[in-house]
Amino acid sequence: MTRAPYDCDVLVAGAGIVGLATAHALRAAAPRLRVVVVEKEAGPARHQSGRNSGVVHSGVAYRPGSLKARLAVAGGAEMLAYCAEHGIAHARPGKVVLATTSEEVPRLRELAQRGRANGVAVEELSPRRLAALEPHVRAVAALRVPSTGVCDFRAVAARLTADLDVRYGAAVTVVDQRPGRGVAIGTEAGHVLRARALVTCAGLYGDRLARLAGVEPGLRIIPFRGEYRTLAPRAARMVRGLVYPVADPALPFLGVHLTRGTDGTVHAGPNAVPAPAREGYRWSAVDPAELVSTLRYPGTRRLAARYWRTGAAEIRRSLSPAAFAAAVRRLLPAVEAADLLPAPAGVRAQAVLPDGTLLDDFRFAEGPHSVHVLNAPSPAATAAFPIGREIAERTLRRLAGG
Ligand SMILES: Cc1cc2nc3c(=O)[nH]c(=O)nc-3n(C[C@H](O)[C@H](O)[C@H](O)COP(=O)(O)OP(=O)(O)OC[C@H]3O[C@@H](n4cnc5c(N)ncnc54)[C@H](O)[C@@H]3O)c2cc1C
Repeated sequence: MTRAPYDCDVLVAGAGIVGLATAHALRAAAPRLRVVVVEKEAGPARHQSGRNSGVVHSGVAYRPGSLKARLAVAGGAEMLAYCAEHGIAHARPGKVVLATTSEEVPRLRELAQRGRANGVAVEELSPRRLAALEPHVRAVAALRVPSTGVCDFRAVAARLTADLDVRYGAAVTVVDQRPGRGVAIGTEAGHVLRARALVTCAGLYGDRLARLAGVEPGLRIIPFRGEYRTLAPRAARMVRGLVYPVADPALPFLGVHLTRGTDGTVHAGPNAVPAPAREGYRWSAVDPAELVSTLRYPGTRRLAARYWRTGAAEIRRSLSPAAFAAAVRRLLPAVEAADLLPAPAGVRAQAVLPDGTLLDDFRFAEGPHSVHVLNAPSPAATAAFPIGREIAERTLRRLAGG
């Protein structure tokens, strides 16, 4: 299918789980298509896809009718089936969601309604049933979502690469896209690759790559670090599966939760603090140019004006082990600060509009010969396969049109 002067049919930039699932879907839809994935790191899933909670979400919490709701419900079952087929660690313990005060009970009811609207089974738990499932948690009301699972997304990404042509150490720094003439990319190392179409799935640099390709994203990725603690064995024994607080619908990614992973380790987290670099996994990781550009963006200032109180509380929890322990104690009262051991952090790519709105749903944009992922926040790892198919369909339409 490739004709000179192209090196391949489709170039996919980014070997996170979304880029890899897209390349996988392109190959499945058109087996003769020559697809090359370029990744700036030395291996797959080195950023969000390999630094997350490992939860295969059910789709219970998303706005009915949103892309998130549709793709998470379909994607969760598919992700667990893929793990089973390829011998990748996974489990389906279900999750319990807790209302810890009477003010949170209406939110819990709303969550149950949303879940049912999305076609997700939800079980309201009596105190006795909750005590049988998670004897050490505290709640005034609780529900259980049986379809929530856990898996090793890093292993899923690694398995996907086995059937793909992935070029590592290839950071895309230039894109030349001309109507009717395909796309050429230049890498930091000075290599040039030409293709009939380009797909960018660059996570924390999603907006930058779209702009490089001449597509104005209309938003900015603002990095929010999510920090975790590992529960020491004494406290880990008090958690059987997945324990969540009921989320604030305005800030759904907030709320420290407890997750027993596929290896049996229990993590508490993540919180959400502004990161001074897009790949800033610690407070000391500062990229002055990225920080200045984030601070100059009008959306950042409007976001900060709206949520400074919430932001300050998150930063306090980041800097004070006692404050982090207090957040965990809302769910699990017997935890002490000494039970919370350091653990690696992740950084979320959060798309923010110029008016300060946090973009909640998945978002894509297209150029003459390109498709760009602009926002793929949680549950994009869960939903990677249907997201990959959605992007592949858009790409095949681009190929057919030019
Ligand atoms: C703390 C945290 C917890 C989360 N928990 C969950 C969860 O439990 N369940 C869930 O479903 N989702 C979760 N998510 C969300 C999920 O991890 C992401 O939605 C998903 O991994 C996004 O995948 P991606 O491929 O778009 O991005 P990434 O995994 O970030 O991949 C992007 C890739 O692009 C590469 N790249 C960037 N720029 C360039 C360039 N110029 N040239 C070449 N390559 C480039 C990067 O190196 C990277 O490998 C969580 C996220 C975080 C941060």
